[in-house]
Amino acid sequence: QCVLRCPVGALYEQDHVERVWQALHDPSTRVVAQIAPAVRVSVGEAFGTAPGAPLTGQIVAALRWLGFDYVFDTNFGADLTVMEEAAELLRRLSGTGPREPLPLLTSCCPAWVKYLEHYFPERLAHLSTCRSPHEMVGAVVKQHFAARAGIDPERLFVVSIMPCTAKKFEARREELGGAVDAVLTTREFIRMLRQAGLDVTRLAPEPMDPLLGQSTGAAVIFGGSGGVAQAALRTAYHMATGQDLTPDALEWTELGAGGGIRRLDVALGDRVLRCAIVDGLRAARALLESPEFERLDFVEVMACPGGCVGGGGQPRPAAGEAGSVEARLARASALAGIDRASPLRCAHHNPEVQALYAEWLGSPGSERSHRVLHTHYRPRAVPVAKAG
Ligand code: SF4
Repeated sequence: QCVLRCPVGALYEQDHVERVWQALHDPSTRVVAQIAPAVRVSVGEAFGTAPGAPLTGQIVAALRWLGFDYVFDTNFGADLTVMEEAAELLRRLSGTGPREPLPLLTSCCPAWVKYLEHYFPERLAHLSTCRSPHEMVGAVVKQHFAARAGIDPERLFVVSIMPCTAKKFEARREELGGAVDAVLTTREFIRMLRQAGLDVTRLAPEPMDPLLGQSTGAAVIFGGSGGVAQAALRTAYHMATGQDLTPDALEWTELGAGGGIRRLDVALGDRVLRCAIVDGLRAARALLESPEFERLDFVEVMACPGGCVGGGGQPRPAAGEAGSVEARLARASALAGIDRASPLRCAHHNPEVQALYAEWLGSPGSERSHRVLHTHYRPRAVPVAKAG
């Protein structure tokens, strides 16, 4: 097992390929795949496309060819995360929740969550209790989809295809109850495609399966730094004012000389919401230790430079090709393009999300939503560096 350079030991390059092949070959197991936003704009790089080429439908076709029984979209979970996080933000702003301080910190990056647990446990009450999008999908699949489809949840095996090595650690967290059984990084998924002799670029696109397959432009931008905050603001604004925010109207300003932090104030009814986007754990530490932290209302933190498009499980550019920074920028720009071209750009307009609340969850922040879609955190000892 190779341990990458990670300050909190969350980033294990732990191979799940064999485990997934075994599940696919087990006739008594129904295997479910879900795909993160950043994966769809990077898989093609291994098959000769330029960084950023979106291959969502072709990836769905490849997963069915490999034997997956159902293919869902982590973007559906991102829309759910937006609904829950926006409701949580408004509840904290109203000051009615117990022990829920501001700023609210986003929680969809497991490396950031673990960093806070190790090094800033006194700040854990700031972390959103929302599960990350793929863990929300895993929970809904096992607790709701299984019942609707008449499948024993014990026979369901949920595989998340992620740009991220830290998601492997996250899936093992006891607090999440085994909602996700295996996490394939983008590189591992590419390896499976090659083992099966599949060139994903040559397949005809297919749609995701219904119920957890539809998503909005707000969800797809989760893959780049700033996307989570922007998506949550679109829906928090609508929940607070009844109006839709113009998605492209949000202009963020670089803060300070150190880089990595952007700021924006948004008028939310009669209150100004002070928001920040933080790129990387070094900038996060600087903000946590700064007096500015206490003056903020909402902060997004992603551990990888540029967010998940630059995640540790993404394809690495070969020598002579565009460098990793260029690849990351191209992938982020492709996700922003998908958002701009989406007919629905706000999570609260997702018809499948609306249907899930209407038929099962109730409302964002309801008792059932909390049981299924939220979690809790705990302080962890500071890791001791090993010699050698
Ligand atoms: Fe994973 Fe990096 Fe994305 Fe965090 S920013 S969720 S560590 S890929």
